[in-house]
Amino acid sequence: MSADIIDGKVFAAQIREKVTQEVRNLKSKYNLVPGLAVVLVGEDPASQVYVRSKGKQTVEVGMKSFEHKLNVETSQSTLMSLIDKLNKDKKVHGILVQLPLPNHLDEKQVIDRISPEKDVDGFHVVNVGRLSSGQKSMVPCTPLGCLLMLRKYHGSLSGKNAVVIGRSNIVGKPMANLLLQDSCTVTIAHSKTRDLEKTVKQADIVVAAVGRPEMVPGSWLKDGATVIDVGINRVDEGDKKSKLVGDVDFDSCQEVAGAITPVPGGVGPMTIACLLANTVVACCRTIDCPEPTDLVL
Ligand code: NDP
Repeated sequence: MSADIIDGKVFAAQIREKVTQEVRNLKSKYNLVPGLAVVLVGEDPASQVYVRSKGKQTVEVGMKSFEHKLNVETSQSTLMSLIDKLNKDKKVHGILVQLPLPNHLDEKQVIDRISPEKDVDGFHVVNVGRLSSGQKSMVPCTPLGCLLMLRKYHGSLSGKNAVVIGRSNIVGKPMANLLLQDSCTVTIAHSKTRDLEKTVKQADIVVAAVGRPEMVPGSWLKDGATVIDVGINRVDEGDKKSKLVGDVDFDSCQEVAGAITPVPGGVGPMTIACLLANTVVACCRTIDCPEPTDLVL
């Protein structure tokens, strides 16, 4: 058996198309253009690539992009002042601070300074609380993208056994919350989980968010399981070449799984598409206009 491939690129393009229509709608009906501010501190090459890509896609869907590139020695107070300014700026509906920040900066304090209504990454403690108590919130983009792919593939997720490997605040925990809200029976595994293979074997849905290249082999999977691979790991191939791989061993998993997301081309493109969707939603909420129902949860 060879698994269905859940193509994140195709699905992300459909979301961007809906976002583009919604942006046109906001412009024509309310004379409002959603704006996303992205703050980058320092010159981490991977972060620079992400920020460039976010800015480019923001403009492509018709929104305004505001990039703030600060040097690596930026102080906590300078960064906090910038966040305060963006919080007040009416042209800015979403604020994203690219993580990780340099070590001397307090990430938690910075994130919690962003107005929860503009926190399009969904990392503010208020949004975390709203999500876990089932209230309307900003949903973190990567887990949101994973959930949308699962819903698209399966329809209802009700009653399915889901195992999320990883318990980070950015991916694992919000992912587990979202699956629970869709009535899955959810297990969260982590580095102290005793028998990970046995845990994974029970899952109809496996979400791997670990950061360990190709850690999950096909032999761990239940026949026909759906696998969402969040991992992005760069591995050396010799001769100064490298390639991107996920947290699951794609070749052996696709022999056993019913469906699987590839790396690259799975979760990654969905993350940015959901960021754009969240910015539109944040913009709609400023004027109390109807939210685009197929973009929000
Ligand atoms: P973190 O490092 O914050 O969390 C990793 C989690 O994996 C931890 O909870 C850790 O457990 C768990 N873990 C580590 N080793 C094992 C093990 N041997 N067995 C079981 N669990 C283990 O990573 P993130 O959540 O931020 O990211 C995870 C992956 O997803 C990374 O590859 C990252 O690059 C990728 N990513 C991709 C995105 C996308 O858009 N596609 C967006 C964000 C992340 P413990 O808590 O016990 O230490």
